[in-house]
Amino acid sequence: MLDARRRDCLRDMGITLWVRREAPARDSVSVSQEDPPPVVADAVLPEKSLLVESTFTASAAAPVSAMDPVPLAPVVDPAGLDWDDLVTAAVGCRACSLCETRTRTVFGVGDRNARLMIIGEAPGAEEDRQGEPFVGRAGQLLDRMLEAIGLSRDQVYIANILKCRPPGNRDPRAEEVLACRGWLDRQIALVQPEVILSVGGVAAKNLLETDEAVGRLRRRVHHYRETPLCVTYHPAYLLRRPEEKAKAWIDLQMMWRELQGDVS
Ligand code: SF4
Repeated sequence: MLDARRRDCLRDMGITLWVRREAPARDSVSVSQEDPPPVVADAVLPEKSLLVESTFTASAAAPVSAMDPVPLAPVVDPAGLDWDDLVTAAVGCRACSLCETRTRTVFGVGDRNARLMIIGEAPGAEEDRQGEPFVGRAGQLLDRMLEAIGLSRDQVYIANILKCRPPGNRDPRAEEVLACRGWLDRQIALVQPEVILSVGGVAAKNLLETDEAVGRLRRRVHHYRETPLCVTYHPAYLLRRPEEKAKAWIDLQMMWRELQGDVS
């Protein structure tokens, strides 16, 4: 049975709730005639430490004048760093030119022992201001999506492919992704999630090293190294294309079943 809060979350996602006539007052969810998804049971929530990553202000956060560019520092090898050293090194990172335009380095947030890790693209304007990934309207939708499967934001770990905002929210460049990749790889290695949820095309492309679109990658369980990885749409895309929210709901349910060890 879905509780009222989760019903609200599903309605926010544009999911139509219906009740089977022959069933005695049983809530269900209709996504399409062809593929009615099962209702997610009131599942057992994962154990969690609720250790929440704080937000950070980069030591080198001040924009640098174009007349006086600061030379980029060599990349610190993140492999082997513990959390504290990793955070310190990433926040001060100057391995690509995005360090010159960022307000804050957006390292990551959430439970460092989370069973589920969500990986998106790059900070937007609000994330750059607040130093936290997935805030603003897209972040609120992500929160509602998580609530719909019975999870809260502080029960997962959230990070991006890039830790600094590309100016004007342009797509990340290959050299930026390459320079930044070590931070994310080390975050994944430290969190050791049971499942990764990749949101949006940029994350899927870089994590799976593919040019296939999200629409062709979703509804399958991939792997990032040894870790199962599910693909869905970015919340920002869902805000622009609300008719796609039903597909995201299907993806979340598949991801949840994978997390429960229940994908056949
Ligand atoms: S985007 Fe990544 S590689 Fe570039 S400066 Fe920021 S943390 Fe460093």
